[in-house]
Amino acid sequence: MTDIATRLAAIRARIEDATARAGRPPGSVTLVAVSKTHPQDAVVAALAAGQTVFGENRVQEAQSKFPGLRAAHPALRLHIIGGLQTNKARDAVRVADVIETIDRPKLATAIAEAMAKEGRRPDCLVQVNTGDETQKSGVPRAEADAFIRAAREEHGLPVTGLMCIPPVDADPRPHFAYLRELAGRHGLAVLSMGMSGDFEAAIAEGATHVRVGTAIFGHRETPA
Ligand SMILES: *Cc1c(COP(=O)(O)O)cnc(C)c1O
Repeated sequence: MTDIATRLAAIRARIEDATARAGRPPGSVTLVAVSKTHPQDAVVAALAAGQTVFGENRVQEAQSKFPGLRAAHPALRLHIIGGLQTNKARDAVRVADVIETIDRPKLATAIAEAMAKEGRRPDCLVQVNTGDETQKSGVPRAEADAFIRAAREEHGLPVTGLMCIPPVDADPRPHFAYLRELAGRHGLAVLSMGMSGDFEAAIAEGATHVRVGTAIFGHRETPA
């Protein structure tokens, strides 16, 4: 597990370098450590190395790993970063501090109802399918403006920003730039973009949150 501390330190250094190269203030990028498929021990090792913000893409897995750690680690923040079924909305609202994957009216309705029932309002990000890929979650580009407005005004969700996962084989930079412009139009401060392979490019384009899994925890044995 000392590997995790070493890798975390290396990623933090690369984030700070990329932030400085972009002419942005130190500390303006938050590292979301994506612990999906890795055991709770890996999260504990990261916490011991000073990491407080984590990402999981499955609600059930998040429920099995995180609630038990909160008492000892009050600074812990959990982001749900995977596609959500509406029947998981209530569990997501219970376990998450940030839900990054709001992408359709039905889900927005379910999350708003779950927030009312639970009396808990995690921050929400709208996930945008910047590549308009058929298999991918996220709101299509053409619907993004209208959906962001509806999520805030009609559904009353606390939307603080946007999230994207660019197509695997494309240059991610135009996708990151597009997301930044879209967020700017809506006065949204949070930009969750960039993963192990492209977080430096994302920082150059304005990412406030980078989601890094493999480069910290190593390769995943089971597909996520
Ligand atoms: C798994 C995952 C990541 C982390 O990807 P790595 O390439 O392992 O850094 C980031 N974002 C989302 C939405 C993911 O599902």
